[in-house]
Amino acid sequence: MQGGAQGGDMQARQADPSKTVAQVRDEGLGEGDKPDYFSTKATIVYLKPDNLAYPACPNEGCNKKVIEENGQWRCEKCDTVFGEPSYRYIFTVAVGDHTGQMWVQCFNEIGEQIFGRPAREMVALQMADENQFQKVVRDSMFQTYNFRCRARAEVFNDVRRMRYTANRLSSIDYVKEAANLSGLIDAYSN
Ligand SMILES: [Zn+2]
Repeated sequence: MQGGAQGGDMQARQADPSKTVAQVRDEGLGEGDKPDYFSTKATIVYLKPDNLAYPACPNEGCNKKVIEENGQWRCEKCDTVFGEPSYRYIFTVAVGDHTGQMWVQCFNEIGEQIFGRPAREMVALQMADENQFQKVVRDSMFQTYNFRCRARAEVFNDVRRMRYTANRLSSIDYVKEAANLSGLIDAYSN
């Protein structure tokens, strides 16, 4: 799977421009040769509860999907068999603001923030208590975050489509937001 996709994004600059969902589309972010980075303040409006995580190779830095074989798990890349896989999140959420909605792909670190627990706990919870699992999924919706994202066009089966990937998630700092707002108000009233 795409566990390695996040590595190169770590150099993304701190001050990515803040965009609304409509601006991300209208400005064609990600349509150039290189990916674009942006921040957006958006609310999780939908999250598909199945297939949140995949069984991954526990070898450090591998993260490939492992295949169950005779009660054990094999990583074809490492050519190694494990008793237990290490689960990692991979899922897509619909996020929205007042201008629109878009799908954003989330990997392991983002999932840990959204659900407040590691992927293996979510997988175990789903097997042990479906109702409680559904509740955790519901509770994770309608939360608003600052999403730092990467936009890049991808071609799949000859169809070109934009892929947005969340690189970082941060809670909204309401104190700072209020200070920014009052700064804006001051700027207009002077
Ligand atoms: Zn491996």
